[in-house]
Amino acid sequence: MTTRNQDNSQAAGATPQDLGARFEQEFGRAPDGLWQAPGRVNLIGEHTDYNEGFVLPFAIDRTARVAVAVRQDATMRLLSTYGDQGVVSTNLETLQPGTAKGWTKYPLGVVWALRQRGIDVPGLDLLLDSNVPLGAGLSSSHAIECAVITALNDLTGAGLEAEDMVLATQRAENDFVGAPTGIMDQSASLRGSQGHAVFLDCRDQTARLVPFETGPARLVLLVIDTKVSHSHADGGYASRRASCELGAEVMGVKALRDLEVADLEEASGLLDEVTFRRVRHVVTENDRVLQTVDLLDGPGPDAIGPLLDASHASMRDDFEISCPELDLAVDTSRANGAIGARMTGGGFGGAAIALTPLDAEQKVRDAVVKAFADAGFAAPDIFTVSPAAGAMRIA
Ligand code: ADP
Ligand code: MG
Repeated sequence: MTTRNQDNSQAAGATPQDLGARFEQEFGRAPDGLWQAPGRVNLIGEHTDYNEGFVLPFAIDRTARVAVAVRQDATMRLLSTYGDQGVVSTNLETLQPGTAKGWTKYPLGVVWALRQRGIDVPGLDLLLDSNVPLGAGLSSSHAIECAVITALNDLTGAGLEAEDMVLATQRAENDFVGAPTGIMDQSASLRGSQGHAVFLDCRDQTARLVPFETGPARLVLLVIDTKVSHSHADGGYASRRASCELGAEVMGVKALRDLEVADLEEASGLLDEVTFRRVRHVVTENDRVLQTVDLLDGPGPDAIGPLLDASHASMRDDFEISCPELDLAVDTSRANGAIGARMTGGGFGGAAIALTPLDAEQKVRDAVVKAFADAGFAAPDIFTVSPAAGAMRIA
């Protein structure tokens, strides 16, 4: 386990004007355009995606922005305002999985995936600026990929629909970057809409926008980044997937999506104790997503607190993917006025979310900071996010 120490809580991000000016300074000409794509928070529906189930993420008001200009040759020049990698130059024709280094895997993965689909992506100059925190579980990598694919879709006139872009960015992450991710993050980034969450069926990729407005309900959604990073490579993620596959096989269904809460009694007799708990998490989590959607369609966000709490308990006790920092963030938020809280993302670290009345926000923040200090944990980053627009051209 490692602790990240950069502070993301105040990240502002460059204005479009600044980004255009920086591009000109670096590349000696104006960009052809500017595009942005947001990170995402998963409101509820964790580890349901690869079980062909339901998720309910939303696009957040933190974005990756790219300024891009087409070149007349096959050269790609890439620069990020973050880090010190400088301008990375490469040739389009030699792009292969394994050839790209550092952050350039993400934009180059998208270029590669589009070229694999037969889209004639030209050489490019590209400048990235992002204020999506890295590695906090808010999908900074997909924000980059979605900004780039939206730019390339416009610049090449490829005319891709959102679902094609979802699959192309998945191909980029899986086959070029080498990350075994699904379709949730880019679906939220590409399809998100201000004041909405994206209700996504991971079986057939159908999506529907569900109203999720925190402001009018005088609520804020706090993200508590524990700064604990845990690599999925240690097998925790793979073993959860394997348990889910075993559970589905023993229960005789294609995926755990096909089981309902009423089937759990039968499952408890057929599965070993650990596999049963893994299955119970996924089955009840799918049900909680559906209930959350109903509540957001009806009474609104103040009604969903108990479902967020139940989701956390299920991940902590049945799926066993929480950690002391996440549990402390959730418990402390709840004890100090949050109406619901849960860890979000793949687990073993990353961030928790706490749906909090506006007038309790400061109390929750102070209490979490103090609780972390008292426990001897690294100071968390705490910031608010709101449901924001999906990927778009901004200039
Ligand atoms: P997450 O997507 O959850 O934030 P990942 O590990 O998938 O975490 O992606 C983080 C990686 O994305 C970083 O290691 C870095 O390579 C890249 N990245 C994200 N934001 C930027 C940025 N502003 N500049 C350069 N690289 C970035
Ligand atoms: Mg990522």
